[in-house]
Amino acid sequence: MSKRRAEKIGSLLFCPDCGTLLNLPRDEENEVACEQCGHVEPASSYENITIVTRSHPDAFPSALRQKGKTQTKTHDSEDALLKVTEKCPSCGHMEAYSKEMQLRSADEGSTILYTCVKCRHGWRVNN
Ligand SMILES: [Zn+2]
Ligand SMILES: [Zn+2]
Repeated sequence: MSKRRAEKIGSLLFCPDCGTLLNLPRDEENEVACEQCGHVEPASSYENITIVTRSHPDAFPSALRQKGKTQTKTHDSEDALLKVTEKCPSCGHMEAYSKEMQLRSADEGSTILYTCVKCRHGWRVNN
């Protein structure tokens, strides 16, 4: 008997056996049965989600603060940008500032941001 846990997508739980969206448990219930295949999911799976939801209001203001920081940082880091020979797709100028962006997943590779030295047009190239 397999004890697979439901798939969590955001605040929703999906049946691990058939993929059906599971109902929220009522207060007096400690498990939820899948309407489609009868898979029984413990209500504790939903408790984890509740914790995530509770922490969300705290995470939101810090995200806003980070946004403000990024704006000031952009000015400082502009001197550190590499100047490379790259054709601007907007004006055809052959010089651009390049900056490599680190993506969350290594599987996604890296993205290089270019900013045209002449017209300030920005574009990105995925490796
Ligand atoms: Zn199911
Ligand atoms: Zn340009």
